[in-house]
Amino acid sequence: MSSPKGRVVFVGAGPGAADLITLRGAAWLASADVVLFDALTDPALRKLAPQARWIDVGKRGFSDSTGQATINAMMVRHAEQEHTVVRLKGGDPSVFGRLEEELAALAQAGIDCEVVPGVTAAIAAAAATRRPLTRRGSGRSVSLSTAMTREGTLQAGRNADTEVFYMAGRQLAALSRRLARAGWPGDTPVSVVSRAGWPDQLHSDHSVATLGSATTLHAGRPTVVVVGAGAAALPAAGRATDTDQALRDTPQVFVATPKP
Ligand code: SAH
Repeated sequence: MSSPKGRVVFVGAGPGAADLITLRGAAWLASADVVLFDALTDPALRKLAPQARWIDVGKRGFSDSTGQATINAMMVRHAEQEHTVVRLKGGDPSVFGRLEEELAALAQAGIDCEVVPGVTAAIAAAAATRRPLTRRGSGRSVSLSTAMTREGTLQAGRNADTEVFYMAGRQLAALSRRLARAGWPGDTPVSVVSRAGWPDQLHSDHSVATLGSATTLHAGRPTVVVVGAGAAALPAAGRATDTDQALRDTPQVFVATPKP
């Protein structure tokens, strides 16, 4: 390569199990000199880049703005040393991954970069629960939202037939109230999935009115909350066929174990 500098490749690791990474992402890992990785990624991914130096930037201390500046500086420094740097992010780098800040830092430093997509948590949750996010006739739109604003306040609206909320796990009771205030009927189906794509993923069914009862089950785990059309169970999903109101009023819990 004639480029005087190295490069940074943002790779979406997917939501959990290492085999959910893309082939392109795996190929970049195989040629990486340095991997800067986040807390949510599977340690088994290390096998895809045994030659590389792995640096954990998902630790506490890297999550504030000083930490972000440190990560930006590390990417630039390693790329300037002509290294191939993989910036490995959980899920997809373009979804709640602070990618814009990192891309801006690289652009400013004149460093080449590429973004390799990954399976975002919403998509992993849909697959894990066999609940398509779009439904012919009833689910024409999907919205991915963070429930938390930058200032740390909870927000929820009604912008699409299916809304998927990230980063809401700690405040499900408050989210339930916000959703009701935004106009979602109390009996709207809500599907809560934590650690989607991992062997210990958990899923529970609720309604907008009963969402608060999911708090304990999913406590301390990365969780997405699917509201509306895409949360409704299908008869073909391999479990109860009665998706009626009585079922939704009582939280249903099951562990979905992915096949090896
Ligand atoms: N870039 C990531 C999102 C990072 S923000 C992606 O595309 O998935 C972190 C939030 O993502 C968590 O608070 C949680 O809401 C969600 N999340 C990440 N991994 C998850 C998983 N395996 N299961 C459920 N939610 C997950």
